[in-house]
Amino acid sequence: MYDGTGAPGIEADVAVTGARIARIARNIAGRATEEVDARGMALAPGFIDIHSHGDGSLDADPRAESLVRQGITTIVVGQDGSSRATGEARGGDEPGPASFTELFKSIDELRPAVNVASMIGLGSVRSTVVGANNRPATSAEIARMASLVERALNEGACGASSGLEYTPGGFASQDELIALCKPLAARRLPYATHMRNEDDRLLDSIDESIAVARGARCPLQISHLKTQGPRNWSKLDTVFARIDAARKEGLDVAFDRYPYIAYQTGLTNLFPIWSRDGGTPAFLARLDSAGVSDRIKAETLAKVELIGGWDNVQVSGVRSDEDRGVEGQRLGRYAQSVSRDPYELTVALLKRNRGSVNMVGFAMSEANLERILAHPLGMVCSDGGSFAIEGTARRGHPHPRGLGTFPRVLAKYVRERKALTLAQAINKMSALPASRVHLRDRGRLVEGLAADVVVFDPARVTDRATFDEPFQYPDGIAVVVLNGAIQLREGQRSDRRAGRSLRAN
Ligand SMILES: [Zn+2]
Repeated sequence: MYDGTGAPGIEADVAVTGARIARIARNIAGRATEEVDARGMALAPGFIDIHSHGDGSLDADPRAESLVRQGITTIVVGQDGSSRATGEARGGDEPGPASFTELFKSIDELRPAVNVASMIGLGSVRSTVVGANNRPATSAEIARMASLVERALNEGACGASSGLEYTPGGFASQDELIALCKPLAARRLPYATHMRNEDDRLLDSIDESIAVARGARCPLQISHLKTQGPRNWSKLDTVFARIDAARKEGLDVAFDRYPYIAYQTGLTNLFPIWSRDGGTPAFLARLDSAGVSDRIKAETLAKVELIGGWDNVQVSGVRSDEDRGVEGQRLGRYAQSVSRDPYELTVALLKRNRGSVNMVGFAMSEANLERILAHPLGMVCSDGGSFAIEGTARRGHPHPRGLGTFPRVLAKYVRERKALTLAQAINKMSALPASRVHLRDRGRLVEGLAADVVVFDPARVTDRATFDEPFQYPDGIAVVVLNGAIQLREGQRSDRRAGRSLRAN
């Protein structure tokens, strides 16, 4: 048994009563209603995914198959500046819960098979208060946005996130971000940021993130830390040095990362942010506009070159059925096979799908990935969605991280590469993220805490989802217990979905 703190494993029985861990001892006499023989297996706190997009499909499929089968019991959503609730109703095309209280209530009514905690997304807040355009917020708007952040935190949001490569969140200045992060300070909840840039301006973006934490006096969580594009791979030492310097200054900085060398995002992200000002219709119109289309093309081609060319761009999801055949294709090879220019093909694809195309970009260094995961400040995240290999949650051609992240860390980086010990890896998937977002009764196996437990075979656990065949569940995750209820046992799902909303406490 690994308690999640990073301490070495011990042999112990764990007794669960109701939704809580009742007792942990070397030998517990007596019988239980349900028993699991975990001899030779690792027993650990259920995994906590500190940067997840798994909520997007829970309404359609609350079984959360791909999450449960990885051993995940809690997802932290509302990432990259985007949350389902902002504290105020948004426009007609974005229905959904307004307040975090309503959001949590809707999760509890849904009863998904994972627990859900959520940050408030500063991009969603900006969209609500300022709109889609690239302009500075007025001081009155900043005050209103800050009050929405305050309200969300009062209602149990577990941090505030930004997505500064996205619109409209990326239109926020550093000063605006500082003002919106100030409510985090007293609560010691993190500002989690998908930084303004993760390639050529990576170091500036690290500096900006640290400056926001310094200005707001709040903890900083750098989301999915990476060095993108081969020419930026050498920057990792400097990144770590700047984080170290910030910590010496007294700032609480940490980061997370998924165990893959490719990222996933919207295909529009290859295009400069200024071209996306005002939202999708304005962006699509600019692609044809004589005055700017050449400049958009030049900047986009430079971005594609930075990640190594069109074959490093794989289409992972489209909106339009007529483009289903493009899902899973590398754009360079695909364009060649249909005798089209890859840029023109990309533009046509975006137009037909009204901007809604997802991509996987192969641009990161394996050596850096291993160092980021193994770093004492690094936590494991999936950055992925929730999927199933059948039904409505089998959709697109997703990045395999949504089906393989946690087993992959245990298989590749613990067992094969020995980049970290099993106890350390478990810590990065449980107690560390739980303490980061103040889920104080989760993430550790301690008497009295919530009974979220995973049992896996450390010799056999492995991911099976790949970039070519993402729809494959992992092997070696034997049992998942959520709030005291078995969700998965020997490959069989139970239909008791025991998940609930979690408030930071
Ligand atoms: Zn992100």
